[in-house]
Amino acid sequence: MEKHDCVIIGSGPAGYTAAIYAARADLKPIIYTGLEPGGQLTTTTDVENFPGYPEGIMGPAMMEDLRKQAERFGTEIRFGMVTKAELSKIAGEYHKLTIDESKEVLARTVIIATGASAKYLGLESEKKMMGHGVSACAICDGFFFKGKDVVVVGGGDSAAEEATYLAKLCPKVTLLVRKDHMKASQIMQQRVENTANIEVLWNTETLEVLGEKTVTGVRVKNNETGEEKVVEAEGFFVAIGHKPNTDIFKGQIDMDDVGYIKTKPGTASTNLPGVFATGDAQDKHYRQAITAAGSGCMGALEAERYLQEYEVAVES
Ligand code: NDP
Repeated sequence: MEKHDCVIIGSGPAGYTAAIYAARADLKPIIYTGLEPGGQLTTTTDVENFPGYPEGIMGPAMMEDLRKQAERFGTEIRFGMVTKAELSKIAGEYHKLTIDESKEVLARTVIIATGASAKYLGLESEKKMMGHGVSACAICDGFFFKGKDVVVVGGGDSAAEEATYLAKLCPKVTLLVRKDHMKASQIMQQRVENTANIEVLWNTETLEVLGEKTVTGVRVKNNETGEEKVVEAEGFFVAIGHKPNTDIFKGQIDMDDVGYIKTKPGTASTNLPGVFATGDAQDKHYRQAITAAGSGCMGALEAERYLQEYEVAVES
């Protein structure tokens, strides 16, 4: 069976940054890309908030640059999905990974960079307008809606945060909450209430995102009265939660109720020796490409130190 010092699972900003650092430290990392090489950014258009691109860059092009940079230092990039992980609890032991349900590889360190996926409503019209007015990230895309009216859907902290963020850029934000109350924390709800240009529509569900080439409005329904109406808007922001892609580690690694991997504060270390978690798989607060990249760097540096310690332990 193949044996490697460092296997990175996932090819978003966290995975590629981990690879750049690990490769430059001569750990000869292997990346398994997953089914969506490049991760969430390959589904976005302009990225304007990643430092180093004064004119902005298209998400897929940026991921291509990161891939090339990782390859330049010798990272081996393999298209494949890690379908099973058997993680050891013993320091220095190999972890076993199964790729595409068949091939098995051993890794002394595993850097998890599997990301998270934004949840969507599942409407056909929502899918059709993705990237043309439909977004799941106000901080990434809000700027493109400056001066335009937008709709946000959701009732949790993310929806409250996105609505208040967008309210600084947009004349009017309509927040669609499907119940008669929000799930968000009190302080976040107060922020929504105290923002004059946010209108909350309670008991309201989305029926259809309207528009041909770009979003022109949202058809909604009050689930108490049955009344339907159209809210005019040029942007539709879905903020109904994310799902971290961590199912294969369940039961082995410490995670919260939703599946975000727990790391020791200020590090990428998990409860398992030689297993490091980076990017959105362990971050429910920031979820930015730059924070993912930063934590990818941390994961690689910690993997390098771990391997050094392990070698010392074996020799003594
Ligand atoms: P949550 O799971 O907390 O909330 C999801 C919200 O979306 C709920 O109000 C839910 O409604 C609603 N929803 C789910 N499905 C649908 C649907 N199909 N149609 C309409 N509405 C729907 O996710 P968040 O992303 O808001 O938060 C995740 C975690 O991150 C939380 O722990 C949160 O506290 C944290 N967070 C903290 C922030 C901060 O502190 N600044 C900022 C952002 C997130 P319902 O209430 O009816 O179930």
